[in-house]
Amino acid sequence: VAKAEHLGVFVYDPDADSHSPGKLALLGELRRAIENDELLLHFQPQVSIDTGEVTGAEALVRWQHPTRGLVYPDDFVPLAERTGLIGPLTGFVLNAAVIQAKAWSDAGQPLPVAVNLSVRNLSDEDLPRQVAALLKAHQLPASLLKLEVTESAIMFDPVGAARVLRQLADLGVEISIDDFGAGYTSLGQLKSLPVTEFKIDKSFVMNMNQDASDALIVHSVVDLGHHLGLTIVAEGVENPAALEQLAAYGCDNAQGYYLCRPVPVDAFDDWRSDYVE
Ligand code: C2E
Ligand code: CA
Ligand code: CA
Ligand code: CA
Repeated sequence: VAKAEHLGVFVYDPDADSHSPGKLALLGELRRAIENDELLLHFQPQVSIDTGEVTGAEALVRWQHPTRGLVYPDDFVPLAERTGLIGPLTGFVLNAAVIQAKAWSDAGQPLPVAVNLSVRNLSDEDLPRQVAALLKAHQLPASLLKLEVTESAIMFDPVGAARVLRQLADLGVEISIDDFGAGYTSLGQLKSLPVTEFKIDKSFVMNMNQDASDALIVHSVVDLGHHLGLTIVAEGVENPAALEQLAAYGCDNAQGYYLCRPVPVDAFDDWRSDYVE
């Protein structure tokens, strides 16, 4: 029902770079894909660098397209952002993520699930109410939902974003700053946001072992975050050397191909039972 409501407000944005026939076709199809449940989530685990414990999962959207195969978010999320489809897309992802978090919790293996928000979601005054309704409908403790927002999304409308994030945090939902280090948020601004986690951008983590300045940035972000009382997650951990280096810097959690790729929920559960044993 909520989905249909959102689809009613779909507006074609003539400024979008969707002039090519391919893009236009994809846009029409994306609209149908949300209605037809062609979107799905893959999950990628995060683990404690210290204890190895699984600390969370990031939900990453995919589009199972009838003829193009599995389409990755870089090929359709930006399109959704420019066309008013991001509301229903985020609605789908939140709903599916909450259902999965509830299933893990009911199975006695609670795991916080992180959902990515887009710039437009942060100026959607209705989002906190939607999230509250979802948590209530599925009886999910708010602490099992985390929302990832990038610095650039916050900077687009800092005042509006702060208001929406405050309302979300007041529900008990965790807020994580994604791609940290790649944006331009001032420390003064960060201080006033209800944030509990920094996620270090993978571009720094992936180059840490060859690039001394990237290593310095990673180390500094860990220290800065810890001084602010935050949890630090490094994404893009692709090899054991990176994990060791992060351990030396005191980074809390790690996410990356070396540990596990983003996978469908069944594969995630298989990975988790092998990993934990
Ligand atoms: P992100 O939020 O920074 O997500 C991390 C991306 O890095 C994911 O790509 C993930 O598969 C990839 N990744 C994970 N570990 C590694 C690694 O060790 N090495 C490398 N090179 N890459 C790694 P994915 O799933 O293709 O998503 C790309 C971007 O699309 C995401 O970047 C996020 O900005 C956006 N996105 C994904 N799902 C959603 C969603 O549900 N809603 C919104 N609004 N955006 C989404
Ligand atoms: Ca993310
Ligand atoms: Ca990221
Ligand atoms: Ca990114």
